[in-house]
Amino acid sequence: IGTLYIVATPIGNLDDISERALKTLADVDLIAAEDTRHTGKLLSHFNIKAKTFALHDHNEKQKAQQIVDWLNEGKDIALVSDAGTPLISDPGYAVVNLCRDVGAKVTPVPGACAAIAAVSCSGLPTDKFQFVGFTPAKSQARQQFFNDAFDSGITSIMYESTHRIMASLGDLATALGDQQQVVFAKELTKTYETFFSGPVCELIEFLTAEPERQRGELVLILPGKGKETAAITPEAQKLITLLETEMP
Ligand code: SAM
Repeated sequence: IGTLYIVATPIGNLDDISERALKTLADVDLIAAEDTRHTGKLLSHFNIKAKTFALHDHNEKQKAQQIVDWLNEGKDIALVSDAGTPLISDPGYAVVNLCRDVGAKVTPVPGACAAIAAVSCSGLPTDKFQFVGFTPAKSQARQQFFNDAFDSGITSIMYESTHRIMASLGDLATALGDQQQVVFAKELTKTYETFFSGPVCELIEFLTAEPERQRGELVLILPGKGKETAAITPEAQKLITLLETEMP
């Protein structure tokens, strides 16, 4: 029986591909790719000749059984998405779920993931966090989503699309106030990588000042209720500690 490898690919910088990912992609019999043209470019960059087939949101339920059949025939298969870790806001769930159901071997070849890359550099607490996927498309649902994320009391990582970012930040300010701290992480591992951490009103100003800054792939991170960090500078913290010791 074959193995299904869930292979992470870079989120921008091609040097982030792992040696094991390259070896796996070169060795498997077939590669299931979210977009075969996109993955074809990655493979040709690394001089890997492999058979690919499309596995995307619209066909993965049908393809899942076919993949199980191939695994049963002894074929090894790699599953990749356009960028980062498959199944993280990307296709593959139906396939892995069926493979688990029938007892097929599924193993990860870990690597880049925008959510993890962003939170690791956010300066927000990472002892507990949640990944909440893409923000909802509608304004009211988005405000509720931001409220729920904040009320969870832990750091929330979310994906956002470039054409929705300004509307989304407007909803964030409406839901939680325009002084709400937020971290914005854009174009991670790429030339124009940008981090911004501060009150949402300042982030809106920063992005409005140069609309170009709104373009690209981005992650938003919200601290949980009671976990905001930027508002308290080290100086202010010293003062608070001093006052606390002085207080009766
Ligand atoms: N599976 C991917 C991963 O592991 O991160 C995520 C795929 S999801 C369809 C694409 C979203 O991920 C983008 O809209 C953006 O929110 C985020 N993303 C992907 N690459 C990114 C990057 N280089 N910098 C910032 N965000 C990124």
